[in-house]
Amino acid sequence: MTTTKKTLPLYIDGGFRQARSGETIDTINPATGEVIASFARGDSRDIDDAVTAAEAAFVEWRATPATERARMVNELADRIEEHADELAMLDVQENGSPIKEMRADAFMGAASLRYFAGLALELRGETIPSDFARLDYTLPSPFGVVGRIIPFNHPFMFASSKSAAPLIAGNTLILKPSEHTSMSTIRLAEIADGILPKGVFNVVTGTGAEAGDALVVHPGVRRLAFTGSAEIGRAIQQRAATHVVKSVSLELGGKNPLVVMPDAELDLAVEGAVRGMNFTWQGQSCGSTSRLIVHESLHDELVERLAARMESMRSGLPDDESTDTGAIVHRGQYEKVLSYLQIGRDEGSKVVAGGGPPQDPSLASGMFVRPTLFTDVKADSRLAQEEIFGPVLAVIKYDTYDDALRIANSIQYGLTASIFTQNLRTAHRFARDVQAGYVWVNDSARHFPGVPFGGFKDSGVGREESFEELVSYTQVKNVNINFG
Ligand code: NAD
Repeated sequence: MTTTKKTLPLYIDGGFRQARSGETIDTINPATGEVIASFARGDSRDIDDAVTAAEAAFVEWRATPATERARMVNELADRIEEHADELAMLDVQENGSPIKEMRADAFMGAASLRYFAGLALELRGETIPSDFARLDYTLPSPFGVVGRIIPFNHPFMFASSKSAAPLIAGNTLILKPSEHTSMSTIRLAEIADGILPKGVFNVVTGTGAEAGDALVVHPGVRRLAFTGSAEIGRAIQQRAATHVVKSVSLELGGKNPLVVMPDAELDLAVEGAVRGMNFTWQGQSCGSTSRLIVHESLHDELVERLAARMESMRSGLPDDESTDTGAIVHRGQYEKVLSYLQIGRDEGSKVVAGGGPPQDPSLASGMFVRPTLFTDVKADSRLAQEEIFGPVLAVIKYDTYDDALRIANSIQYGLTASIFTQNLRTAHRFARDVQAGYVWVNDSARHFPGVPFGGFKDSGVGREESFEELVSYTQVKNVNINFG
């Protein structure tokens, strides 16, 4: 483990250095409670330096042929795949999710870089017939310096995959990882060093209130992309407008419905409900289908089978290949999850699986919570309305389709939704009417490269993981030529 107990640096203008303040932040292994490393606590002075470097690098980067940018990004993907195990172990130590999932994340990051590299020649403009003696065409133009702020739940996958589109579109980048999970992003900088020209890719670690806010308000950053909670997303929309008009995209939270119709295949629905909860990341996924809306005719059988399936999942140390569900990322998040277990009980809901930390003494110093199933949940209760971002699934009963749809839509969020039914008509009606940016029929959780992902309502603005994301890192320039 290369980074254990080291003080990790910032990466600015192709160089590694400590924060100007000299301050650092400790990072803790949530499975053991041990301090494993520290990293630089960047602030507005470091962001100023990074913007200056990224502005200077932009001049050549935008002039670099798209195929050459793509070649470098593909090379970065090659190096990531070679280091996948090591990258996964950094996330395992810092984030608490099981090794098999974090390894898959490293490969997903590489795949995403390749996907966007493959689109490099597809960023085309249009010709528009404005007049007979004129040529009118559009040019997709990069913004310049892009800021990206990412959350803790997929540290390396987000650091790598969310760098791809801005760079391929010809922008330079400043990445700000979560203060709870920065190690693998700094390792990404080490891997990118020598592949990408200096100043093109920069990493400033630190807190949201310092480094994050400095990036949000900086007038030199005209395009900002944020992935994180709805609360911070709303604050960022306001703060971004402090000095200049800024293009802001937001990938935010969710409290997503999974509806089980009376004609659903029960086996499929049980597996879908488990997979949809992403217990493999302790439920810490924006797309988790954490509201299970079940027809009353299936309710008891489905709950019984689901509870048994959830109880069979193995809580364990995240570096163990046989672990199904690991540790919650940090103490604040752990206490938040525990507080919702109490809120659910206080609201009169019943725990039918899990309900607290595991009994295993070998996990006693870590922040573990068992996959938890609540029944008798009211659709307007806090347990059903608020994003917990933990392994807590709330079952809500309904009797008519209209009732199910109303419950599904009665929420501030609108990220994902899922329905289990064998009726084509019901499936299409639900897909049309549910207020969510991403809908599964007879499935859950799965993402596919090239498929747009993003939210309705308080779940965000913009679409990612797709061609739409690449285009969002360009602005249209129209050129009108009079040759008459
Ligand atoms: P968070 O909002 O607390 O933090 C996210 C990032 O924002 C971190 O890097 C943090 O340092 C930074 N930040 C915090 N305050 C800031 C501020 N005032 N200014 C600028 N930056 C600031 O979220 P989290 O706890 O790291 O992650 C969990 C949240 O992320 C959940 O709500 C989850 O649903 C959401 N999420 C959404 C998606 C998606 O694609 N829609 C994906 C993953 C996670």
